[in-house]
Amino acid sequence: MICLFYFASLPFANPVIARVTLEMALGKEFDYLIPAELEGGVEVGTRVKVPFANRQVLGCVTALIETSPHADLRPILKTIGRQSHVTPRILELARWMAEYYCCPPEIALKTVLPEAVRREKEGWREQLFVRALPSHQPDPKLSNRQAEILAAARARKELPLQELLRQTHSTTQTLRRLEDKGLLLIAPQISERDPYARDTILPTQALTLNDAQKHAVEEIARAESPAGAGAEKSKPVFLLHGVTGSGKTEVYLQAIAAALQNGKGAIVLVPEISLTPQTVERFKARFSSGPLQTLVAVLHSHLSTGERHDEWHKIRQGRARIVIGARSAVFAPVDPLGLIIVDEEHEYSYKQEEAPRYHARDVAVVRGRMENAVVVLGSATPSMESFFNVQKGKYRLLELPLRADDKKMPVVRIIDMRRAARREKAAPMFSQELKEAILKRLDRKEQALLFLNRRGFATSLQCPLCGYVAQCPNCSLALTYHRQAGKLRCHICGHDAPSVCPDPKCRNPAIRFAGIGTEKVEATLGKLFPQARVQRMDSDTLKRKEDYRRILGDFRTGKIDILVGTQMIAKGLHFPNVTLVGIIYADLGLHMPDFRAGERTFQLLTQVSGRAGRGDVEGEVFVQAFTPFHPAIQYARRHDFTGFYEQEMEFRRQLKYPPASRIALLLLKGRNEEKVSFSAAHLKQEIQRTAGTPPDLTISGPAPAPLARAETYYRYQIMLRTRHISKLSLLLAGMMKELKLPDDVSLSVDIDPVNLM
Ligand code: ADP
Ligand code: ZN
Repeated sequence: MICLFYFASLPFANPVIARVTLEMALGKEFDYLIPAELEGGVEVGTRVKVPFANRQVLGCVTALIETSPHADLRPILKTIGRQSHVTPRILELARWMAEYYCCPPEIALKTVLPEAVRREKEGWREQLFVRALPSHQPDPKLSNRQAEILAAARARKELPLQELLRQTHSTTQTLRRLEDKGLLLIAPQISERDPYARDTILPTQALTLNDAQKHAVEEIARAESPAGAGAEKSKPVFLLHGVTGSGKTEVYLQAIAAALQNGKGAIVLVPEISLTPQTVERFKARFSSGPLQTLVAVLHSHLSTGERHDEWHKIRQGRARIVIGARSAVFAPVDPLGLIIVDEEHEYSYKQEEAPRYHARDVAVVRGRMENAVVVLGSATPSMESFFNVQKGKYRLLELPLRADDKKMPVVRIIDMRRAARREKAAPMFSQELKEAILKRLDRKEQALLFLNRRGFATSLQCPLCGYVAQCPNCSLALTYHRQAGKLRCHICGHDAPSVCPDPKCRNPAIRFAGIGTEKVEATLGKLFPQARVQRMDSDTLKRKEDYRRILGDFRTGKIDILVGTQMIAKGLHFPNVTLVGIIYADLGLHMPDFRAGERTFQLLTQVSGRAGRGDVEGEVFVQAFTPFHPAIQYARRHDFTGFYEQEMEFRRQLKYPPASRIALLLLKGRNEEKVSFSAAHLKQEIQRTAGTPPDLTISGPAPAPLARAETYYRYQIMLRTRHISKLSLLLAGMMKELKLPDDVSLSVDIDPVNLM
């Protein structure tokens, strides 16, 4: 057995052997000779092509060594790219991730390099790209075939030639003919693609800080300075707890300026960056001129492959010292790195839901420690985990208790929907109070946001003739009715069905709908306020990437009076003319089988409320709830985070839930329920039998997961709780190697899970 976590760059005089992780699911590393002609050109992090069995495969050098336990080593065939792509430090981070999150090292390695960079073939720059040229005149006469190819090229604007050929089953000659007509351009890709090239950016100056902001910036800057706190050991992690609108972004901007002044770069993580173009603009604008001028690279999943490649290389070459991005930007090759900021650190989208199941906030903290960089976690509603770390003295707390521009926090009114329901004999969608508040805003030409965290028109449906409930055939979930599409849809697997009773003997088209979704809110608003301009924003109305920008643009310019949406409208948006926020059904998330249900509800209510009153008129928030006295709702009403934390912590301690303890969630899946349940029982026995389990280990299950069946797979869970999670990870990794499961049963291990369904 080869040791996987071999220490990277030991200073051997003459390493002639390279240890390589192959891009194949093998879970181990292999040794290769460095041939004379490549001597000096192979380092830790270099990407190489090597022979494996009778094939040639790509891999990454993870260590240089002098002797190997194996005989008959074969030589490396060639190296890829001029610069070694993975820096030794990122490699170290990948190793940590593989170990902690229990995943094979090659999977961790794949994750730290974007696909666009990893796949880079030698001479990538020679690769031919096809770009659709803007045409100002009507297109010349084209055959159907040509028109089809042109449409495909235009849909993507720009793509590799090979890809277009594959996709359209055409030939290079055909494309050249379209090029001759001036419709396409075929060229080797050298020009840099800037995903934000269309935006004009006006430089901004640093704002004068208020006292709280000033204190925060000073503390962070002091820690960043070479002689500052943690000069010998590691730099501190700060938790910046600032209420919505307290000016956290300005603190980030000035903290980054301090890092640049020290000659270091910064990474800024934001959740779902494609949804927050304003944030990117603020960073670009600040550093677009002046002595600290630098490029700001952007990394997120909505970029084209080419764009991602270019952004990554801008960072690697040191031309972009600042990176803004979603989850995976935590691996950006900024060097030297001075500062990592994780904005909205409580957001669940920082957790990756496939292997490696890493949490970008936690990886950021580890990377900060490895590279001696300062880490700042910012939020209006910090996660229980991060605040717990403050209480234990691991993180340092910085607070921005007031809104930056002296705007008042909105008044939050809780409406007891049980009373409204009694009065009107059925639960109304809008209470009298909310209806009046909306009317008032329409009269005053102010805007309103209405929030409901469920899309579609209606849920649970039953056929009144035969009593059948429309259930997804693949998942253990009722279908949702989408009126616009005229379909019943599964929100897990996307299964579509006509909206008639699914019982083949009945097929009654008049099934009954109950419950509500955003689509129904929109429709009801149309009836109640025919004069209002209503727009809905949820994943059903956002079909293309521009849709989000367009809708928000319309809202900003006052073309929309009422915006209805799911959690998409909860975050980060800043609209001065919004004076009313209505939360239609605040308890919707409270009754989920998840110990974080209360925390999620508190966060959501606080964040949504934060959208009100960002302008000159004070904001008002109406929270409609059937359990108005639930602590998550009451503390959110009082904007009292610490109060919420204290009482929630009580519950977490009692039940040994994080952060009082840590969780590893084992999920077994398969099409044969008996096999899955049997395997789960077997797995539990194995865990109990294994020596060295942490003494405080609690095993719950196996039991069917809350979502017992999804996409035709049965799902069983085992939940493990302990305070010694690293020890447990190690143990699970060892066990998974030995474990024999039936072929059609798969196991995944999720350390620090966020999704318990
Ligand atoms: P947060 O991210 O904490 O919700 P923002 O950073 O978006 O808050 O700031 C809210 C608003 O306050 C923004 O319009 C910002 O320009 C403004 N702002 C921030 N700091 C100051 C300051 N020191 N003086 C004046 N306005 C400020
Ligand atoms: Zn389904």
